Amino acid sequence: MLVLGLETTCDETAAAIVRMRPRGGGEILANEVMSQIAEHAAYGGVVPEIAARAHVDYLDHLIRRAIQVAGVELKDLDAIAAAAGPGLIGGVLVGLTTGKALALALRKPFIAVNHLEAHALTARLTDNIEFPYLLLLVSGGHTQLVAVRGVADYLRLGSTVDDALGEAFDKVAKMLGLAYPGGPKVEKRARTGDPQRFAFPRPMQGRAKPDFSFSGLKTAVRMETERMAPLTNTDIDDICASFQAAVVDVMVDRTRMGLRAFRERCGAPTALVVAGGVAANSGIRGALQRYCGETGLRLVLPPLELCTDNGAMIAFAGIERLNFGLMDDLDFAARPRWPLDENAEAIHHGKA
Ligand code: AMP
Ligand code: MG
Repeated sequence: MLVLGLETTCDETAAAIVRMRPRGGGEILANEVMSQIAEHAAYGGVVPEIAARAHVDYLDHLIRRAIQVAGVELKDLDAIAAAAGPGLIGGVLVGLTTGKALALALRKPFIAVNHLEAHALTARLTDNIEFPYLLLLVSGGHTQLVAVRGVADYLRLGSTVDDALGEAFDKVAKMLGLAYPGGPKVEKRARTGDPQRFAFPRPMQGRAKPDFSFSGLKTAVRMETERMAPLTNTDIDDICASFQAAVVDVMVDRTRMGLRAFRERCGAPTALVVAGGVAANSGIRGALQRYCGETGLRLVLPPLELCTDNGAMIAFAGIERLNFGLMDDLDFAARPRWPLDENAEAIHHGKA
């Protein structure tokens, strides 16, 4: 089975072609990604209108290149998959409409993929792991712990009640005058800083429900920054190191509670899977490696290019859904908000 996957939900424009392996897992034949970081850098964050226009400019070139790199023809494809949300509506519409048009013209099945489901299934693309497993998704837009029980079967155990973790990294970087995207810069400065100089709060630490909160931590950093201004280079390094130390403690604690909640509701997980752009952070990776080593849990960290937004994960989610006969109509509407676990969302908002 050969599927084209399109991703345009945020600031990466991507097209990829993935072939299903006979014994499960996927073979990535092409994975073309155009990051728009340069277009947004001057604004200190992703500007939705600029993102949507850039997707329009790049997507068809990327599809053409993916076809070339994979050495296949459009008629060889078995299906077209496009991310239909959650994300910035203008961008989502670009990929979704392009995917539908290709499916219509080629008379191939169309699959509308939930971007979060694609992140959740990436560990099966790379490592062919069995269900059920615990997913820690940490990106610029999402921070959640999810029980991945099967294709189209997810249980969100906890999520952030305010900022996403990547967003917190980016905001702290901005306060310190570090360029966007701030995550990698904070990590770099943290390496030479003193993680114990500032006792920043560890929000939610110890709570049974594995939720996250970062706005209090961010405010604590802001207050310290304002109190000390002007900052020396050493101050900036120490703030970054102390902030990252707080984040690392929180991530280990929340993952521990997530694992407990998982065991209560789904039994033993086959692995802990980490995905999203913040999974690049070596402080977080190292701490989770130590934690999993102590608890005997398998840790799966997909390669970085598959942790951040990409088309291969969309194509592979399309393969997994197609295997279950889960195709979509061409009138499938874009979903800027699209929780993996819709019942949980309804309960959360008092609708069910
Ligand atoms: P994504 O939303 O998956 O595209 O990932 C982008 C987010 O990941 C941004 O908020 C980045 O600041 C963050 N990020 C990338 N690399 C790192 C890192 N090494 N440490 C912390 N955050 C990072
Ligand atoms: Mg991104």
